[in-house]
Amino acid sequence: MTRKDFADLKFVGSSWLSFFEECIIPSIQPKTIFNTPISDIDYSKDQIEVKSTNGSIFTANKIIITVPLKILQSGSIHFMPTLPSNKQNAINSITVWSGFKAFFKFSTKFYPAYLSFSNSSTRQGQIQYYDAAYAQNAPDNILGLFSTGQPAEVYQNLSGNAQRDYILNELDTVFGNNIASFNYIDHIVQNWNEEPYARGAYITPYEDGGQVEILGQSLNNKLYFAGDAYTTGNDWSSVHAAARSAKRAVDELVQ
Ligand SMILES: Cc1cc2nc3c(=O)[nH]c(=O)nc-3n(C[C@H](O)[C@H](O)[C@H](O)COP(=O)(O)OP(=O)(O)OC[C@H]3O[C@@H](n4cnc5c(N)ncnc54)[C@H](O)[C@@H]3O)c2cc1C
Repeated sequence: MTRKDFADLKFVGSSWLSFFEECIIPSIQPKTIFNTPISDIDYSKDQIEVKSTNGSIFTANKIIITVPLKILQSGSIHFMPTLPSNKQNAINSITVWSGFKAFFKFSTKFYPAYLSFSNSSTRQGQIQYYDAAYAQNAPDNILGLFSTGQPAEVYQNLSGNAQRDYILNELDTVFGNNIASFNYIDHIVQNWNEEPYARGAYITPYEDGGQVEILGQSLNNKLYFAGDAYTTGNDWSSVHAAARSAKRAVDELVQ
């Protein structure tokens, strides 16, 4: 093994989104229909009928379902016939963590690259602060807050100035001298539970892999499932798990 084998690769001035926009989207965009939420999937006949909330109807002999698990849990997509009980039970029983992110801009960088707590990663959830501008050659000092599960709900239960002040106070307690409050410039937050087409973060890492495997299984050579929730049950809840799952679903579909 050389040093290179252990190199920690980092997106600089870009992200996973840029990767998809550059390498994947151009080839599929002309065939993609946006802003068309699906509400009904009828797979009772040879031709599957998929309906959207705006009344469009699409037909196909096979489809791949890639919506977040929270969407299936909400019941906002109606299946005809209903999904088999083992699939529906897996959908209902699996825990998807809440998700919260914030980015705080400060006039000085008083924090380290990574700040964790004794409860930063537990069965209840995750919380960490990180230097979001780390190695980005960015002029601004941006501290990111990433939280999932129960810890995220503490922030989600607050809003506006109370939410901002809670986070500043958390940082002031760690770093002292009101340094966060004093150097605060601006911030933005994203509550993933309130994103209508996500409704949460991702499946907890402590989930039963056997149940996740059921989520990923295809049905009747017609319905295939791909995305970070629909895997072989060995790995889930990440961009790479979603990409691997998509490859598996397509391989299976074209067999
Ligand atoms: C706060 C947070 C931080 C994360 N950090 C990381 C990280 O650092 N590294 C990492 O690898 N992963 C991370 N993840 C996880 C990563 O974002 C997901 O694993 C990945 O986006 C899953 O991709 P996906 O295609 O399965 O689902 P999504 O990206 O959720 O895509 C699902 C798509 O389905 C669409 N949709 C929803 N409902 C309908 C409907 N009814 N009809 C039609 N379309 C619909 C949605 O609009 C969306 O476009 C993070 C997630 C969160 C929330």
